[in-house]
Amino acid sequence: MKNYLLTPGPTPVPPESLSAMARPIIHHRTPEFQAILKEVEEGLKYVFQTKESVLIISSSGTGAMEGAVASLLSPGDRAVVVRAGKFGERWGELCAAYGIEFTAIDVEWGKTVNPQKIKEILEKDDKIKAVYVTLCETSTGVTADIQAIAKITKDTQAVLVVDAISALGAVPLKTDEWGIDVVVSCSQKGLMIPPGLAFVSLSKKALGLVEKSTLPKYYFNFKAYKKSIDKNDTPYTPAVNLVIGLNEALKIIKKDGLENVIARHKKHAQAVRGAMEALGMELFAPDAFSDAVTSVKVPEGIDGAKLVKTMRDAHGVGIAGGQAQLKGKIFRIATMGYISASDLKICIQTLETVLAELGYKFENGVGVKAFQQASS
Ligand SMILES: *Cc1c(COP(=O)(O)O)cnc(C)c1O
Repeated sequence: MKNYLLTPGPTPVPPESLSAMARPIIHHRTPEFQAILKEVEEGLKYVFQTKESVLIISSSGTGAMEGAVASLLSPGDRAVVVRAGKFGERWGELCAAYGIEFTAIDVEWGKTVNPQKIKEILEKDDKIKAVYVTLCETSTGVTADIQAIAKITKDTQAVLVVDAISALGAVPLKTDEWGIDVVVSCSQKGLMIPPGLAFVSLSKKALGLVEKSTLPKYYFNFKAYKKSIDKNDTPYTPAVNLVIGLNEALKIIKKDGLENVIARHKKHAQAVRGAMEALGMELFAPDAFSDAVTSVKVPEGIDGAKLVKTMRDAHGVGIAGGQAQLKGKIFRIATMGYISASDLKICIQTLETVLAELGYKFENGVGVKAFQQASS
């Protein structure tokens, strides 16, 4: 069976990257690899929209998130954590693991944070050194207004740390222009590469904290990665073939143009939302939706887990269900990276087939038709 991957990570990998990764392995301390690393670094700066260096770490995205706690803070420092879903909760869990006390802003799942709340907390507490937020909260399909939050953190002692793992290369993110101190991302979402690489950009303000940080750490010590990347190197053995595959993916983004890539995500996500509405279904996050992943409420009387399972096992179309408290209540269709309009059309057609099988009433074909009109 042919499989279609429309999950919010891992995402499909373009053939240019696949074939580059299949080439025989090379050694990483060679001019050949260093030339590739240099290109990758330039490509990452372009996608991150920053002039500062972007650290490249061999780990899943969470490794870079862990580093963004362990490498920035010191015992006694405090933090603000926005928890609007599963990944916001992870920031809190990481702070707790390192003994960092934090003020949590809990946001109802499906809604977005009010930046004013962050301002109020920062004004009252000068021990806060970092504000942890999620740009695209993949568990709910919600985006946060990072530009507004960055305006608030800019003139304070606190750095703004953004989990842009599912957002990078999919939604607007202007690291330097907006004044974001730390952007964390990884390979298997909008960057179209298999899991295994994580990335971090650091502003000068963030580098200041890294210099002073005394929390215990070793592998995720950003100081080591920064020192190495300045010499066009990595501190430990990098995931050589993933870096090589990433180089090809970044070339594609560069060639298409980041603005066009972002615009394509917007168009596809809009078309998916339109199709869901045409099918009489309700969006889970109608006020703050993300163009990287669309979350949809499972209609009354339909078994959400069975819907996702049947699409995958009987039709080869992989979408995601809900996580934690949203299990069985929503499903999520990704529009990130190398997911094309044709992939999405097949996804919506299959969704219609399975919905009909499960007893949901709608006019056959309206979803596909709405998608087609909006995406062409
Ligand atoms: C996927 C994802 C993560 C987790 O990344 P891993 O690579 O699984 O560690 C973290 N945050 C967000 C917003 C994500 O979408």
